[in-house]
Amino acid sequence: VSRGADPIRNLIRQLSRLPGIGERTAQRLTYFILGQPAELAQSLSAAIDEVRARIKLCSSCFNLSEQDPCPICSDPGRDGSLLCVVERPTDLEAIERTGKYNGRYHVLQGRLSPLDGVTPEDLKIPQLLERVKRDGIREVILATNPNVEGDATAVFLADALKQAKVRVTRIAHGVPVGSEIEYTDAVTLEMALGGRREI
Ligand SMILES: [Zn+2]
Repeated sequence: VSRGADPIRNLIRQLSRLPGIGERTAQRLTYFILGQPAELAQSLSAAIDEVRARIKLCSSCFNLSEQDPCPICSDPGRDGSLLCVVERPTDLEAIERTGKYNGRYHVLQGRLSPLDGVTPEDLKIPQLLERVKRDGIREVILATNPNVEGDATAVFLADALKQAKVRVTRIAHGVPVGSEIEYTDAVTLEMALGGRREI
């Protein structure tokens, strides 16, 4: 009778909890790690520990950062009256790569998905409404993904922001319907930002 978990089975199980990693890939990664010098496993696990220990959510925009507030929120050169709402930090990074946006962000940390039980309270939506009221925001750009759930999230936010008397726009042009902002090239994204419309 074996005592404790089999370490190989255990690593396969842990790796297959990651998004996009199935059982087969987890198995391949596990045997790859075992075939490499111990140094690889050590730096991998140290990097995972370090990212968890040092990176946190900015308490203002909920982007991931080593500082709170994050460098974007604390940059006085940024237009603090312009707020771009995105689902994830990777969307923020994609928009930053255009180099054409000089406002601040609000990262929802997901999108509304009733089927998966994701409600407004599970996202940073209450914090967004609070922030718009508090920080004298002039325009909110809704840059959620152009798919069913991203659109539903944008419609919900536009409605929730109605009483805040703020201009609400939605990026539209250029980003193909059903696609993800994260994977959209910088030129297309720049056009989508420039072509935003009132929602
Ligand atoms: Zn921030």
